[in-house]
Amino acid sequence: MRVLLVIGLLAVITLGLGWLLGPRTPAPELPPQLVGPDAAWLERADQLSARRRPLGIASLLLTPIAWWLMIRFGWSAALRAWLEHHIGTNPWIVAAVFTCIFVFATTLLNGPLAYAGLALRRSYGLSAETTAAWLVRQGKELLVSLIVTLVMVEGLYWLLRVAPQRWWLWAAGGAILGSLLLTYLAPYVITPLFFTQRPLDDPTLRTQIMELGARTGVPISEVFVIDASTQGNEGNAYFTGIGGATRVVLYDTLLRQYPKEELLTILAHELGHWRAQHVWKGLLLTALGAPIGLWIVHLLLGWLLPGWGIRDRADVAGLPLIMLLATIGGLATLPVQNWISRQWEREADRFALTATGDPAAFQATFVRLAQQNLADPTPPPLYEGLFATHPAIGRRVADAGSSSSP
Ligand SMILES: [Zn+2]
Repeated sequence: MRVLLVIGLLAVITLGLGWLLGPRTPAPELPPQLVGPDAAWLERADQLSARRRPLGIASLLLTPIAWWLMIRFGWSAALRAWLEHHIGTNPWIVAAVFTCIFVFATTLLNGPLAYAGLALRRSYGLSAETTAAWLVRQGKELLVSLIVTLVMVEGLYWLLRVAPQRWWLWAAGGAILGSLLLTYLAPYVITPLFFTQRPLDDPTLRTQIMELGARTGVPISEVFVIDASTQGNEGNAYFTGIGGATRVVLYDTLLRQYPKEELLTILAHELGHWRAQHVWKGLLLTALGAPIGLWIVHLLLGWLLPGWGIRDRADVAGLPLIMLLATIGGLATLPVQNWISRQWEREADRFALTATGDPAAFQATFVRLAQQNLADPTPPPLYEGLFATHPAIGRRVADAGSSSSP
């Protein structure tokens, strides 16, 4: 049975890769008149991306492999047995301590790769963050992930104990409610842990964006700026939140360096996400995917357990296995998720172009962003297809250029 499972997974991965490895068009080069006289940054961007790609792929694969080893060699079952021996068999307490150890171990394992990422950004002048500040930030991230994981795991194992056959349906409901709650609360609770937020205080830009919002039917009340410069020099902006928490957030690293019409382009792109309700559509996809994914996990667990010293589905020693199955599902559907994300980015780009009517500013904005962030404007098509949440910048600039021609 297990052999069948492995064969099935390999088949899915092979089919996905086959589709992605087929002939795909590379992103167009940036127009030389936009790159400017000093094109040395393009080479640096290319170099940095080539060094980043293996790091990114390694960090995607490292934890699932470690979780598999935990299961395969019975370490997970041994840890649960050790805990039951020393702290008793109360399932809530065993699950809590097991989860803490699991989250700490996973974070420690990922530590060197995360630090390598910081070192790389530093060596390219993208970050001046000290190791101490970085460690504090990692500590905060660990704390947030620990709290969220604890709530999730206790809820999950409680359902597994009280509803052994229907737990996946209730868990899917919980996952949907949890995503709604997190999306609503994140701007109020999580962002302030890492950044200081303030309303955009540039009166001209503020008026322009409010007018643009009113003209395009986006009910925008405020634009926020975060002090992202404390963590790095990269420029960015994003759209987040639901209900009263809906907002556009600009990095302060953009404000000093970008002309008004380019900031307006960036804001218009974010309004495009707002207008097209991408946060809600993302939540809808979660709502559709969660019950299907959890039902598959339910079937697979029934198939695989008992095994490797794990008694049954409700045994917390199976947590790394549940996480592993969920991660494999996530990786298998990643190309589809990223494809959807790239379509949404294109939609927001088109909105920005129509709203501002300024393709020249659009092109200049994205070349400036690529230069500031040392983003490779022409990544390998296979890498883009599998891992990129945004279309290649070369493609976005070229598309904007063709939108202006009659
Ligand atoms: Zn976007």
